[in-house]
Amino acid sequence: MEMKMEENMRVVDTGSEAGGEDALVGNVNKLMVTPRGYTGVPRKGHLVFDACFESGNLGRVDYISEFEFDLFIRPDTCNPRFRVWFNFTVENVRETQRVILNIVNFSKTKSLYREGMSPVVKSTSRPKWQRLPAKNVYYYRCPDHRRNYVMSFAFCFDREDDVYQFAYCYPYTYSRLQHYLDSLERRNLDYLQREQLGLSVTSTESTDQQQRRLDLLTITSPDPALQNPKKEKKLVVLTARVHPGESPASFVCQGVIDFLVSQHPVAQLLRDHVIFKIVPMLNPDGVYLGNYRCSLMGFDLNRHWQEPSLWAHPTLYAVKQLIVQLSQDPKVGLEFYIDVHAHSTMMNGFMYGNVFEEEERVQRQAVFPRLLCNNAADFSFSNTSFNRDMVKAGTGRRFLGGLLDDTSYCYTLEVSFYSYMAAGSTAPVPYTEDTYMKLGRNVARTFLDYYKHNHFIDENKAQIPSHINSIEVLSKDQQGNGNRNGRSSGGERAAERKSQGVRRDY
Ligand SMILES: [Zn+2]
Repeated sequence: MEMKMEENMRVVDTGSEAGGEDALVGNVNKLMVTPRGYTGVPRKGHLVFDACFESGNLGRVDYISEFEFDLFIRPDTCNPRFRVWFNFTVENVRETQRVILNIVNFSKTKSLYREGMSPVVKSTSRPKWQRLPAKNVYYYRCPDHRRNYVMSFAFCFDREDDVYQFAYCYPYTYSRLQHYLDSLERRNLDYLQREQLGLSVTSTESTDQQQRRLDLLTITSPDPALQNPKKEKKLVVLTARVHPGESPASFVCQGVIDFLVSQHPVAQLLRDHVIFKIVPMLNPDGVYLGNYRCSLMGFDLNRHWQEPSLWAHPTLYAVKQLIVQLSQDPKVGLEFYIDVHAHSTMMNGFMYGNVFEEEERVQRQAVFPRLLCNNAADFSFSNTSFNRDMVKAGTGRRFLGGLLDDTSYCYTLEVSFYSYMAAGSTAPVPYTEDTYMKLGRNVARTFLDYYKHNHFIDENKAQIPSHINSIEVLSKDQQGNGNRNGRSSGGERAAERKSQGVRRDY
């Protein structure tokens, strides 16, 4: 069957190694990969690779055989050191076409692929992301690629008209965040405010304006004088996606926001006593571009907190300025800074905290992670650690830990790109988009436990009827479907069971 060619598809002979890694300047653009020297007409089964879309990343494809292709990750813009995130589509497939795709230029060696992690896939007719079966994934040191670690996966295409998409982990793009924030804004909640805290780097190319929104959400009850006349409000600051490839951080962050803006009684109590300031995407350019670690200009923004430049790190500059200003505001007590990340070699959710001389402060710092551990089966206190490594001195957690007074707590919240081990279980449970969000909801409600624990919120006033003292009631509410009765429907639970059972469609 002949296929209709789109004009921008290039038929390229990729059988030669001549380009070398220096040729990795951009993403492949509807690249049809044919055998070396092939001059005939394009046919069904000549795979077309594309990564020219938001958060896309694939720099080069080499034809090895009809059944095998070598794939090269495009390094972060202006920083060739980081090559981990990939996200690309494949189309023009033949039904029952079996291929092996080798990702050959990872910049890291240690990987959760050894523990059973696999890439995620979806296709036009099956739009929900799934992890590939681990048995189809191999991770090994390859003599053919300068002894680099290579991740190979076998895949069988099954529908000729489908476009297949593969990614390192569930993508969460800048546009997705914008749609989500737009939908929140349309709800006109009097306890939610969205501001543009700044804009990202301006591109020198006038055709491609890089300036993207740096969003700030403020969630708190509108009139503190009525709700809480005597006490100051506590302030919690949360940031995510300083590292653009760490997409699970966005699902966690959305889970936090969904909970805090919900009608859940815990959320209402928290809004009465606490101001939440949330920057959901600290590095919007990096996310847009499909980078793993860096900004457009190649900076790891989580190493520049000490001296961010307005010119080189505008989003970080704006966030730091905001936090410094908040820390000097006598009307609010800035108590928590949490920066959300995803981890490529560890399992579970866990935290990094700071090291202090005073034992009492050390103990106080451990309270929040301990309480979170009680609430979230996937959060591990034993993986949580406290350090003062020199290499981390430029991180938000370390810098603000030194800046803020000794009644405040700064953490990095990490969540595995792959899975968690629940207590008592023997097999790792792979994270889904939903379970990442659930961790976020658990983080949010843990603030009530914390403020009850230190008596900032009155234990008696904060009694939540036991049948609704669960975050599960949010599953409809958070989607804005208007189910406010505090119970999840039978259909929803069935859907949850179904999504937990791994469908092996691919
Ligand atoms: Zn990170």
